[in-house]
Amino acid sequence: MTNVQQNLQQIKQHIQGACNRSERKVEDVTIIAVTKEVSVDRTKEVIATGITHLGENRPDGLKNKLDAISDNVKWHYIGTLQTRKVKNVINEVDYLHSLDRISLAEEIEKRATSTKDCFVQVNISEEESKHGLSIEEAESFISQLENYSRIRVIGLMTMAPNTDDHTVIRNVFRQLKALQEKIAAKGLIHAPCQELSMGMSGDYEIAIEEGATFVRIGTALVGKEREEIK
Ligand SMILES: *Cc1c(COP(=O)(O)O)cnc(C)c1O
Repeated sequence: MTNVQQNLQQIKQHIQGACNRSERKVEDVTIIAVTKEVSVDRTKEVIATGITHLGENRPDGLKNKLDAISDNVKWHYIGTLQTRKVKNVINEVDYLHSLDRISLAEEIEKRATSTKDCFVQVNISEEESKHGLSIEEAESFISQLENYSRIRVIGLMTMAPNTDDHTVIRNVFRQLKALQEKIAAKGLIHAPCQELSMGMSGDYEIAIEEGATFVRIGTALVGKEREEIK
């Protein structure tokens, strides 16, 4: 068994545990393998395990993988997207996790050749270092997106703060879930908002217990090649 297979086996056990504790179904949680720190070869190992959702956070990293990989996988763009890079990225990916401003929506509207599934990024903890809208801003932002026919808001995304305090992390995820339910209840055609993209290597079990439908897992699954090579 490869390292990636071993890691995946462990992660799946942890996901099963989190689902059991929260009475959820494992089928309702999709693993996005974040391959931003690893090579094409390692990415191919990931695909060989049967994983079909991959995440990249930089335009050049995405291009590098797309050029080398022709497998039928879903690509997620999980990083901050500069407006001027939209044209290189938007039609190459299936999901965008970092929609956080109208200028970005405008550029997507101009460049996308079909409707794009997007997550609105929310900065629950309001950490300066993280992108995303506050809870208050997110609601009115999503209403405004009604005028953008190329954008479908399928859910919300957040990153938990950098802390070992599980209570703080759980509280962030819980607030995102509450906001998602509030928006979903509006029944907006352009924003069904059924999905929650939350949880990374260090906190995906908590995220699942709090309702995550997509977890974005990098290091725990694929390692960090740059460090291994050193
Ligand atoms: C890098 C990254 C991840 C994965 O982080 P790990 O801690 O390596 O699992 C998830 N989400 C976003 C937005 C990232 O940039």
